[in-house]
Amino acid sequence: MTPVAPTDEMSSFEAVNWFFDQSARRLGINEELQELMRHPWRELTVSIPVRLDNGKVKVFTGYRVQHNGARGPYKGGIRYHPKAELDEVRALASLMTWKTAVANIPFGGAKGGVVCDPGSLSQSELNRLTRRYIQNIAHVLGATRDIPAPDLGTNAQTMAWMMDAYGQLHGYTPGIVTGKPVELGGSYGREAAPGRGLVYCLEEWASLTHFPIQGTKVVVQGFGQVGSWAARLIGDLGCIVVGISDINGGIYNPRGLNVQDVLAYSLSHGSVVGFANADAVGGTELLELPCDILIPAAVENVIRADNARRIKAKVVAEAANHPTTPAADLVLQERGIVLIPDILVNAGGVVVSYFEWAQNIQEFRWDEDRVNQELAVFMKQATQGVVETAKRDNISYREAAFSIGISRVARAIELRGFV
Ligand code: NAD
Repeated sequence: MTPVAPTDEMSSFEAVNWFFDQSARRLGINEELQELMRHPWRELTVSIPVRLDNGKVKVFTGYRVQHNGARGPYKGGIRYHPKAELDEVRALASLMTWKTAVANIPFGGAKGGVVCDPGSLSQSELNRLTRRYIQNIAHVLGATRDIPAPDLGTNAQTMAWMMDAYGQLHGYTPGIVTGKPVELGGSYGREAAPGRGLVYCLEEWASLTHFPIQGTKVVVQGFGQVGSWAARLIGDLGCIVVGISDINGGIYNPRGLNVQDVLAYSLSHGSVVGFANADAVGGTELLELPCDILIPAAVENVIRADNARRIKAKVVAEAANHPTTPAADLVLQERGIVLIPDILVNAGGVVVSYFEWAQNIQEFRWDEDRVNQELAVFMKQATQGVVETAKRDNISYREAAFSIGISRVARAIELRGFV
């Protein structure tokens, strides 16, 4: 394929494939194999009729995209979002393929989505929606076929409903989903895992590159499962969180925010906005605040070619999935801003999902210390691989991470002998 110059107007799937193509070309992967790795292996779109509390029936649309299963069962979260769409789900499924390969866990990549606004549905409506969605996609799921997990708008409760709906069809199968409540076979440490994994990754990267991380100022966009844990745990590295935002806006204090207090405030008020001892900042402005490390932990495509020129951080650690467009990625590179990519930084979530699945299969439980210790091992090894590859081949960390992921998937396809 002829390389095209990236733009912010690319769709999400085009953007992920732009990164894929860049690395696959450099690795010299043959065109036929590239084609097989670029496209999802299976896509399913389903209609989900749900009786609402007011007695009316509403038909929702749901997706499950299985991008690549060469290295193991398909694995990836399910998001409930009003703007969930097939192209985005494809992009996220593809990222899962490269992420599980970079983390070196025995899974392929998948993603799912339901077009809905979970905030406007009651718990019983969400329960019915979830059950019907799982019934409609159950024939492509399985603990050795495809294992969903939470993502934006879904949580441990959603996973409990999914496990129950699948169990009604196939019998008790805790390994069918990860991110479940601990009482139903969930793993200790799963909720904190993407944030904790980010901290292990940054710690290893700083040590390998001699980056003085102690005392650095951090801004976190998004204060949900990933962002709130990243903000809570990054203090362990001696970092100071100076800015935090959620969908309603942001707060900034250059002397540092007390993250536990922000969390308590956000839980009682439904947002970080209005927190005392901080200035109010807009969501867009937050990304451009003076800081050392910027952690986008909310949604995709927030760092674009135009605002990338105004980012003041020295390091961008992508906790969200594809928060940076390929055009912005080039701008950050030109400006010498270090970018540590999503498929490495936020892999902690799927690594602990792997531990949960493995514990479910063995009908055994690890304590939280063991989960965290094993997570540290996986995150540090993955970080070392990316840093070493980037240095050896004189490429960006993103290109290095994609190269490692693509090489592992290509090798698995070759060994299986199905092309
Ligand atoms: P979440 O729903 O728990 O939290 C999302 C947060 O982002 C909320 O605080 C929300 O208010 C905020 N937000 C939404 N839109 C925003 C905007 N435009 N500007 C600023 N803030 C905004 O979701 P999450 O599970 O924390 O996921 C966040 C990101 O991390 C997503 O990209 C997701 O795909 C990715 N991720 C999640 C996991 C996981 O296990 N949950 C693992 C890896 C990656």
